[in-house]
Amino acid sequence: MNWLLNLLFAPRCLLCRKPLGPVEAGRSQLCPDCVSTWRTKYLADGGKPVAGCTQTDACLLYRDEVRGLMIRMKCSRRLPQARQWLGKLVGARILLHAEQWKPDLVTYVPTALNHWWRRGFNLSEEIARIAAKTAGLPFEKTLRRAWFSRYQSRIDSAEGRKKNVRSAYKPRPEVDLTGRRVVLVDDIQATGATAEACVRLLRELGAAEVYFVCAAKTPGNRTKMTKKREKRRVQS
Ligand SMILES: [Zn+2]
Repeated sequence: MNWLLNLLFAPRCLLCRKPLGPVEAGRSQLCPDCVSTWRTKYLADGGKPVAGCTQTDACLLYRDEVRGLMIRMKCSRRLPQARQWLGKLVGARILLHAEQWKPDLVTYVPTALNHWWRRGFNLSEEIARIAAKTAGLPFEKTLRRAWFSRYQSRIDSAEGRKKNVRSAYKPRPEVDLTGRRVVLVDDIQATGATAEACVRLLRELGAAEVYFVCAAKTPGNRTKMTKKREKRRVQS
């Protein structure tokens, strides 16, 4: 019986899901193979441009095992080790730019109530909170989502996404960012429409500079779902 429980609940590598030995489980949460390969396979070389942003950066490429990991994280509140890993990666990126950016605070792209209701938490908020701690910066809530809004990933065109997000984000009451240098954090960057809408609001709140860091960016400009839809259209 014990062997079965061990098999079912044994800690697994965050990326390839192989069971981990006690040393890896207590340390990096990645198996030795992934420890030596994740940088070459998934490390992103900078973020996609976002209008209104002084500079952007991305930690990972949202594909294969990273994509699998983030989908598992979005579906479940568990995987605190994965949140720590991603949060610390984002925090390290902020630190890397700290001398140039001179950031005053870290904030995040908020989620809508219907999304929160389904998931019970906001992944970008959790990543931003850990990133802020890692970078030694204050974490502040600055924006909120409209109560009910459409999922960005269910909208096909970049133009449609832009329209949807423009009305979907609002500033939180009594937030004043006058003269402050803000780092906006998101979990995944697809087209950049979400980040753009948030950056615009942060600027309206007075932010002197806005920088954007995401945990992972999609390799192309289209989301996986958009590609699937396009494929379906071609087939039908
Ligand atoms: Zn692995």
